[in-house]
Amino acid sequence: MTTLCSEGYRQFYNALQAETVSAEDIVNLIPGALLNISDEMHLGKFEIRTEIPPSSADAVGLNDFRVLYESPLGFELLAHTRMFKSPAKGNVSFAVFPVAGYKWNEEEKSALDFLIKNMYVVLAKARVTEMLNMRQLTDYLTMLPNTTYFMKFSQELSIKGILNQYTVVFSNLKSFNYINQTFGSQAGDTVLKEYGSRLLNFYKQDEIIARFGGDNFVALLKNENVDNYLNYISKINITVVLDNQTRALGISARSGVYPIPAHINNIGEALSRSSASLVYAKQVCDSEVVWFRPEILERANNERQIISYFRTALTRKEFLVYYQPKVNSLTGKICGCEALVRWKRDDQIISPAGFVPVLEKEGLICDLDFYVLERVCENIRHWTGQGIVPARVSVNFSKLHLRNPHLIDDVINVIQKYRINPDFIEIELTESASSEDYMTLEKYINELREQGICISIDDFGTGYSSLSLLKDLNVDVIKIDKSFIDDITVKDSKDRVILSSIMSMVTGLGMEVIAEGCETAEQARILKDMNCTMIQGYLFDKPLPYEEYTDKLAGGHVYAVEL
Ligand code: C2E
Ligand code: MG
Ligand code: MG
Repeated sequence: MTTLCSEGYRQFYNALQAETVSAEDIVNLIPGALLNISDEMHLGKFEIRTEIPPSSADAVGLNDFRVLYESPLGFELLAHTRMFKSPAKGNVSFAVFPVAGYKWNEEEKSALDFLIKNMYVVLAKARVTEMLNMRQLTDYLTMLPNTTYFMKFSQELSIKGILNQYTVVFSNLKSFNYINQTFGSQAGDTVLKEYGSRLLNFYKQDEIIARFGGDNFVALLKNENVDNYLNYISKINITVVLDNQTRALGISARSGVYPIPAHINNIGEALSRSSASLVYAKQVCDSEVVWFRPEILERANNERQIISYFRTALTRKEFLVYYQPKVNSLTGKICGCEALVRWKRDDQIISPAGFVPVLEKEGLICDLDFYVLERVCENIRHWTGQGIVPARVSVNFSKLHLRNPHLIDDVINVIQKYRINPDFIEIELTESASSEDYMTLEKYINELREQGICISIDDFGTGYSSLSLLKDLNVDVIKIDKSFIDDITVKDSKDRVILSSIMSMVTGLGMEVIAEGCETAEQARILKDMNCTMIQGYLFDKPLPYEEYTDKLAGGHVYAVEL
């Protein structure tokens, strides 16, 4: 019989004491440990059954039965059994059978109990440690692995050198912001939870799908499973209770996909390429799935550079203001101009299309707009100081300014700093989509006009609310978008009909109209016939550097308008 000091028992116990091993490792250690005591304990067979229901700590649970020892001499059928409640509200039961022809006495049975209890304690300790580790690796809302788990999992693949058998799919839900805004963030959580459980269904052992915060999900899948997954997430139907109503929602996602090539053994790089592809899917091509291409990375790097260098560029005055004349088509004289920003970087002049959208996305554009306003005021001060009569200058203001509660004061401060007559300043705002913006827009327009500043609506006709905007907003000038001008030379073109109706409405409401993007004499002639006398476009001049524009302004330049 085994005693506490027997050499066999000590060896058995020591064999189970390996630190930092998982419960699975311990179960695998038991057969070897049992060999130390199988003879002295007259063991015939040793079974262990683990039943752990799925729980918040372990989404999958465990149902496992194993024979850990079986004597070649056979065993008696009457088992000595013990059951324990596991830390995860499950059961762990042991069944031990004596070797064929043997029967344990009471003392031996209590020694067996002691042995089983010890085995259970070692197992339970490993299991609790595992659960604590799991907790740090699980996203508690969706029960999916979290970012830490994802990184750990991919590092293991990287160590094994098999990362290149995998593809990263970085996804973002399409309608989630809408759900959050319409039904509230709690409803948003319900949707994420349900969505997460659908992704759990897709889960395979050697792959991972993790939640990367918010409505971002990242999967690391075997290359051959990617199409299947993309198809699965193209629309996941879920049913949730929102506002006390059961609703069926079809949730679709956008994804950036990056199959990891052999030369990349670094998950960080793979993640940034897949997320750059996702950004590209959202912002550039409006697609559901974008597979990585090198140009995507170039674009993303360029954006990052713009963002990080922007403030330095502002202090170094790398941004230049160009002026594009607005021409009175009856007299050929300059009747105003638009200030358009350029970035002089390493002796290259970069157009706003290359940086304005990035700055807008990052919320940095407002600083640039104020910088441009300052340069414009400074230039106007110069002109008046030299006896040149300035024509009204329009400055583009992003609609992000609507979030600034001090907008009016900020604008006035700049104008006063340079002692400029506000009549010389016009602010171009673009149409706004949301009704909340719309109310702020209306308020700001009225306040700016009270200060004597002109307001124009830029790119008119390209937004959703064009007509109601005309009726409700008290603006001075409507700038007709270039896209309308492009087609007006086509006889009976739809745009030509729409344009002439807009012209008569706008002038009827007492506002001025300007057509932008006029490139040909024929376009200008038709515009003139429609009573549009203010024209801006390459036909007359491209945006000009300060000196060139100043020369034209000072010299009273007259453009040819005999069209
Ligand atoms: P926008 O305000 O609608 O400006 C008109 C754009 O059309 C300018 O492009 C101008 O150069 C171009 N354009 C004018 N006439 C013609 C023409 O006949 N043909 C063609 N093809 N194009 C013409 P630009 O300077 O590249 O500016 C593009 C956009 O960038 C502007 O559109 C405006 O939305 C934005 N932007 C420019 N400067 C600023 C700024 O200081 N702040 C903000 N927030 N946005 C700016
Ligand atoms: Mg403009
Ligand atoms: Mg425009």
